[in-house]
Amino acid sequence: MEAALPAERQVDEIESLCMNCHEDGVTRLLLTRIPFFREIIIMSFECPECHFKNSEIQSAGEIQQRGIRYKFKVDSNEDLQRQVVKSDTCVFRIEDIDLEIPAGRGQLTNLEGLLSMVQQDLEAKQEERRQVDETLATQVQGVIDALGAMLDGNKFPFTITINDPAGNSTVEPSPSDRAGKYVRAEFPRTAEQNAALGLGDVPAEDTSTGAPETNIRPEYHSANLFPAEANGKHSRDMPLNVTDDDDIIENEVYAFPASCPGCTAPCTTNMKMVRIPHFSEVVLMSTVCEHCGYRSNEVKSGGEVPEKGRRITLQVNSALDLSRDILKAESCALQCPELSLSVEPGTLGGRFTTVEGLLTQVRDDLKSSIFDADDDYSGVGSGDSMQTAQRSKWNEFFEGLDVAIAGERKFTIILEDPLAGSYVQSFTAPEPDAQITIEDYERTEEEEEELGLRDIKTEGYENGHGESKNETRDRKELEEGTTEKEEIDAEEIAREIKARLGGLDLGDDA
Ligand code: ZN
Repeated sequence: MEAALPAERQVDEIESLCMNCHEDGVTRLLLTRIPFFREIIIMSFECPECHFKNSEIQSAGEIQQRGIRYKFKVDSNEDLQRQVVKSDTCVFRIEDIDLEIPAGRGQLTNLEGLLSMVQQDLEAKQEERRQVDETLATQVQGVIDALGAMLDGNKFPFTITINDPAGNSTVEPSPSDRAGKYVRAEFPRTAEQNAALGLGDVPAEDTSTGAPETNIRPEYHSANLFPAEANGKHSRDMPLNVTDDDDIIENEVYAFPASCPGCTAPCTTNMKMVRIPHFSEVVLMSTVCEHCGYRSNEVKSGGEVPEKGRRITLQVNSALDLSRDILKAESCALQCPELSLSVEPGTLGGRFTTVEGLLTQVRDDLKSSIFDADDDYSGVGSGDSMQTAQRSKWNEFFEGLDVAIAGERKFTIILEDPLAGSYVQSFTAPEPDAQITIEDYERTEEEEEELGLRDIKTEGYENGHGESKNETRDRKELEEGTTEKEEIDAEEIAREIKARLGGLDLGDDA
């Protein structure tokens, strides 16, 4: 499939100067709907004199509430035909050759088009380079040749990434993408990224407008999990992971002022600590922005990096199993082979909910990310036959997921967490649950690399860590400074909260 442009609607036509021959050309503004994405505006220039063509895109929408990242493994010629929307704030990278297309011109093309463009750009100045700096020219030639090999299909697989703080870029997904191939992750913007996008200058202190009260979702109340064990009666083997001075009380909601990562308006972040029986304690954080509608529900679990990864397999046999609690750490991948569902680490962030809640969220996130909200995925595809085929595949996929969420079919959930920080509620704890299989596994080098653990491991061995995993898990004596990993641990959060709460009246929340 060419990067076939779907139905376009012309909105304007402007006579403008051709940058190539300096005669008069025409710029047309077209409103275009990108399949599985959203509407964008294409500014398309064409010169009738020299036939020079050029097109740029602008997002028809505004800046999204979250930034977006994609990682896509290209391993066939078909993959080169995937459509790409690169907004003017997007950084595109070919990781294998460390090549980066910086933010700049917005483009609608496919991977092949993008790679060819870079190749041609580099080639155009090669002669000049060779005159000035032979060594540089040779290096650049290496890149040009590598791009050529990629385009010719002689360098599969290679990995591209897309990073757009404005959330307006995409690479076309396919329902047949399997584990490790296509990763899409939204992320909250930092203050710097908001500033770079020209978003708001609202001081975070300005809470005089009364930031909205937010609620931690009801399924986050651990008291509902094991009614008999509510409120820490089972505290014997699990002390709260905070010191006496910084006592964050379990199940108590703490609120602190924050600024919305979506629009920078002042809002409130609620936080509470929950202990999961027979597992560990986690910190739940919830933010809702009244101004732009940004929402986040995140779970942060702390602790030392265990020696091995852990794979938990849950056999879902009935609707009852859908009510099991599940803690999916951010590092955890999720798969349901029977449903052709595969969720990469980082896609969802950390979640503490039920099996049903998790699957529902995966479904809703996927739907909203590949179809516009008002798009009926069961409807007839409007584009070419390829698109219709894609649609019917998606359709089938979502129907399967719906049946599973309704508790009308058996399936398996596999949680694979290289940091062993995920959890599925057992119905028979502390005795083994016949429907749950737990395996510890050696992390692959790739996983360690990705988690930034390569250095830590050495340190861990020097200090004699990792010998008694269970002990370190249960006790969770966090030794600060032994890991460089950006994991938020409970103590850190306690301190953070404490610092933020300084001088704040807690009366309402406590
Ligand atoms: Zn907001």
